[in-house]
Amino acid sequence: MFSRLARQPLIISIVKNAFSTSAKTDTKVAVLGASGGIGQPLSLLLKESPLVSQLALYDIAHTPGVAADLSHIETKAKVTGYLGPDQLKECVSGAQLVLIPAGVPRKPGMTRDDLFNTNASIVRDLSDACAQYCPKAIMGIVTNPVNSTVPIVSEVFKKRGVYDPKRIFGVTTLDVVRANTFIAEAKGLDVSKINVPVIGGHAGATIIPIISQCTPPVSFPEEERDRMIKRIQNAGTEVVEAKAGAGSATLSMAYAAAQFGFSVLEALGGVEGKVECAYIYSDETKVKYFATPILLGREGVEKNLGMGKLLGYEVDLLKAALPELQESIQKGEDFVLKG
Ligand code: NAD
Repeated sequence: MFSRLARQPLIISIVKNAFSTSAKTDTKVAVLGASGGIGQPLSLLLKESPLVSQLALYDIAHTPGVAADLSHIETKAKVTGYLGPDQLKECVSGAQLVLIPAGVPRKPGMTRDDLFNTNASIVRDLSDACAQYCPKAIMGIVTNPVNSTVPIVSEVFKKRGVYDPKRIFGVTTLDVVRANTFIAEAKGLDVSKINVPVIGGHAGATIIPIISQCTPPVSFPEEERDRMIKRIQNAGTEVVEAKAGAGSATLSMAYAAAQFGFSVLEALGGVEGKVECAYIYSDETKVKYFATPILLGREGVEKNLGMGKLLGYEVDLLKAALPELQESIQKGEDFVLKG
């Protein structure tokens, strides 16, 4: 059911996506933080896609070079670079989709929450420009801590009087990508045919893979299952440690954000049945924001498909996640409301 890029080599998949559907093709996508470790490969994937006609790249450094480089690629999207706050308005005006990977990544030993002090104000200021100049855009927030940055964006949009919860998403696609990869490897399955919903949030124990709802069905002995869940929850840290101070996941994240973005663009263009797990305003649990599989539509969230029936150990994971989620959400809201 979930949308996937991985079923075929990437280029073929993207081209097929575009030509096999009626997706609208006059789309402007803005990437804020476009010169970074995620921003550059994400911009490359977007440039490669016939779904994108204008690609607007914003950063506080290096965007003229990144834009010039990408603009030589023989694909349709017209690439423009914007540097610094004075050019932000022009970058986001008219955008239908804004993807935000701006901000600092983790170093070994850091949690995503340790990034709050730096990234909260970056996301607040970028989303404030979006609330003013592209209030109807679908917002895809990559910047960590996602559990807090999505509430920040929501509060900024509320302050500007343009809040629409259907249009603000925390991008948790990478958790699904990782769960699919690890479970396919463990079970010797074709990774292009596996789908594991991941619910909750995007940090440690708040990442809840629902292995009982995996398609095709899989089962593990209890200990192996618990190890698998831990690995999915700590997969970001696996990359942070392997990069040894040089940042966090960038290439896999770019892949995941592109997958999310293409699904949004196709749904905006009227393609039905696009589903992605994402962290959104939600009444599924007692916390305000929660990731579940989301049916995408012309306005963003078409329908929250919910978490479905959980097994006992999954209910325990959910119970363990809610207090941390609540705290992170409150922290994000307070930052805008009291900051
Ligand atoms: P990076 O440091 O390589 O790039 C960040 C970019 O943001 C840089 O180009 C920097 O110049 C830019 N930037 C900083 N302040 C800015 C501002 N005010 N306006 C515009 N741009 C600004 O970092 P990265 O590896 O690309 O990671 C970016 C973010 O994505 C981090 O917060 C990281 O934790 C997060 N991340 C999220 C996920 C996820 O699953 N959602 C996965 C991996 C990383």
